Amino acid sequence: MLSYRHAFHAGNHADILKHLALLALLQQLRSKDKPFACLDTHSGNGFYQMDAVEARKTGEAGQGILRLWPLADSLSFQDALLRDYFAVLGQHNCAGLNIYPGSPAIIQSQLRDQDRLTLMELHTTEIELLRQNFRRDERISIHHRDGFEGAVALSPPTPRRGLMLIDPAYEDKNDYQRVVKTVQAVHQRWSTGIIAVWYPLLGRSRDQSDWLKQKLRAMADQVVIELCVSPQSEEFGMHGSGMLIINPPWQFAERVEAALSVIRPQLTGH
Ligand code: SAM
Repeated sequence: MLSYRHAFHAGNHADILKHLALLALLQQLRSKDKPFACLDTHSGNGFYQMDAVEARKTGEAGQGILRLWPLADSLSFQDALLRDYFAVLGQHNCAGLNIYPGSPAIIQSQLRDQDRLTLMELHTTEIELLRQNFRRDERISIHHRDGFEGAVALSPPTPRRGLMLIDPAYEDKNDYQRVVKTVQAVHQRWSTGIIAVWYPLLGRSRDQSDWLKQKLRAMADQVVIELCVSPQSEEFGMHGSGMLIINPPWQFAERVEAALSVIRPQLTGH
């Protein structure tokens, strides 16, 4: 039984880190004419209303993207990746930020005719919304399946040039082990693929980020980028999150770190 719904969390600090990194990877894939393939193993439904009951209940977007949006013009002026991220958000909004685009929408925004995207989602309500949102796009295939299983079964994709985003909710403690096994199996089948894994940073008794990074450390060329918005604490849930990227493109980390250095003061309050 899956209880996690991304609508409660969309647009929080973790989405900002994840989607900035995702956009930077996609831009680097687009910098050559050759086609690329993307696989999003845990897609969610693709679009989230910022005034929905779920978003208002947690207020996470209010501490995240809704803090940045009013400053979008001045932040864009300071960093090109931030400018492009706000531009993608703006494509789905007229006045104000009413809709936050999730990873399927961010990837879709960067696809050219020759590129392909495979979306996977297991939750029965989310998959229906995902289908409604993306089924008219012939470049996109949508699978109602376990993303860990699908990641391995569909590797390597055609074309081989491309990116896999692995973004579980970690509501199931086995997700950590499943991430490690999946990344190892995918990398064995698709050694040149870029694999982007998102993970949360939690209170000391629940945090498994060091274990995850240590398990994946021996594998291939990789980089880790983390964004913390408050001190680690047991009562406060997630104080930050990270992205571990296998086979990162040249200067990827520098581009994302530059964007984070501009928005960190707004997100941390100092
Ligand atoms: N990637 C999305 C984004 O950035 O907009 C957010 C994804 S959310 C963190 C995780 C999603 O994984 C949820 O929609 C959940 O229903 C789905 N999920 C949970 N277990 C899954 C599994 N084993 N396979 C595929 N999807 C799963």
